[in-house]
Amino acid sequence: MLSPELAARLGELSDLTATAGLLGWDQQTNMPPAGGQARGEVMATLATLAHERQTAPELGALLDAAQGDGEVERAIVRVARRDREKARRVPAELAAEIERAASDAQEPWAHARATSDWEHFCPYLKRNVELRRAYVDCFEGAEHPYDTLLDNFEPGLTTARVREVFAPLREGLSELAAAIAAAPPAPVLPGPFPVAAQRELALEIARAFGYDDASWRMDLAVHPFALALSPQDIRVTTRYHENDLQGLFAVMHEVGHGLYEHQVDPALARTTLGTGVSLGIHESQSRLWENLVGRSEPFWRHWGPRLRAAFPAGTAGLSDHDLLRAINGVVPGCIRVDADEVTYGLHVILRFELEVAMIEGTLPAADVPAAWNAGMRELLGVEVPDDARGALQDIHWSWGELGYFPTYAIGNVAAAQLWAALQRDVGGLDDQIAAGQYGAIREWLREHVHRHGRVVEPTELLERATGGGLDPAPLLAELNAKYRALYGI
Ligand code: ZN
Repeated sequence: MLSPELAARLGELSDLTATAGLLGWDQQTNMPPAGGQARGEVMATLATLAHERQTAPELGALLDAAQGDGEVERAIVRVARRDREKARRVPAELAAEIERAASDAQEPWAHARATSDWEHFCPYLKRNVELRRAYVDCFEGAEHPYDTLLDNFEPGLTTARVREVFAPLREGLSELAAAIAAAPPAPVLPGPFPVAAQRELALEIARAFGYDDASWRMDLAVHPFALALSPQDIRVTTRYHENDLQGLFAVMHEVGHGLYEHQVDPALARTTLGTGVSLGIHESQSRLWENLVGRSEPFWRHWGPRLRAAFPAGTAGLSDHDLLRAINGVVPGCIRVDADEVTYGLHVILRFELEVAMIEGTLPAADVPAAWNAGMRELLGVEVPDDARGALQDIHWSWGELGYFPTYAIGNVAAAQLWAALQRDVGGLDDQIAAGQYGAIREWLREHVHRHGRVVEPTELLERATGGGLDPAPLLAELNAKYRALYGI
């Protein structure tokens, strides 16, 4: 048992995180635009309070005295020590400088993207990279400086391991994308898809996945995201466009994130452990529901008639097979967030390679667009027309968030591994999906992934659930089987 004093301190830290999360959610869904400045001040105060609590000597003494008995208690102490150590290693002035530089870069990045003007953003990226290198210097023992950044998003993952996983992924995805590009193109969904009907259908699908009105809400946001304030308070967001179904898939994606948080063992609430274990494992959950369930043939056998009833004009003239092909169209393009299942990983691999070079000091900020464009040509065969649709498209570097991108592709890799294990353990998955039944999938995920929260480290979690470490083979097998059949190649 944890001492009541330690439990109370960890509970407070968890409450501060939830409060900041709620304010962030509100900022992106409801806050009037002019509220931004005041909100920034409130958020800064909360961050200061959390940092003070995290680094307080009293917490250190309580953690030192803690006798971890049992797996959960030991994990609470281990993870709390690690979180605290990370907060303590970075001098307050550097942490504040990182925050300020990120905040200062937002407006210039938005302006640079709007006007496709790299020069305008370049000094801010240079500053963010310098500060991340200073951050890395606060920690010792890493084999590669980028490891320290990766570890903040994917504990235990190293640059060397990512390279091992990404090398075959790069080759396999490029080959498949090239084979698809040489085949006749898939049909395009004609549309339109009126937003009110999309919203209704999205909610129906979300409920079938496990969304319920007692513990969830769904709102609109420019950049869809999911947030959990507790396992019983899950917020998902999406955005709808009348000319495509991206909003529908965003709902499946975000509900996948939400289910993870919803099914964390309630006993872990208000400890250090009551949330998803890493961004990569989190993304495996969203991608599993969005892609492996939501873009599958049996899924559309069930939901196809409902889609046709909701959008008779938007689906007119397409056979069931063509509808499936249209939903799974592969078109290499410039924009990561619009990318399909096959080319998505290549966008991520490019960003990873550039980030590592920036942190190693071999790629100056001024040279990023040229390296970007060359990479797009090599990986995707795409000519980037301007930096707005190239190196300026993502917000991450304006925040200085280096080390984040790889987790998107790690998520896809892990999703396919978990899916293979699920198929092995649960029979008749296709029939269940075709019947609109997702209970067995949800329960398998609860048992093997969700309920553990942060108790089990990501590598260990994946090994226990699938019998092996991170491995791109199941993803490549899944994509090849699916897309070679769809495209007749
Ligand atoms: Zn996601």
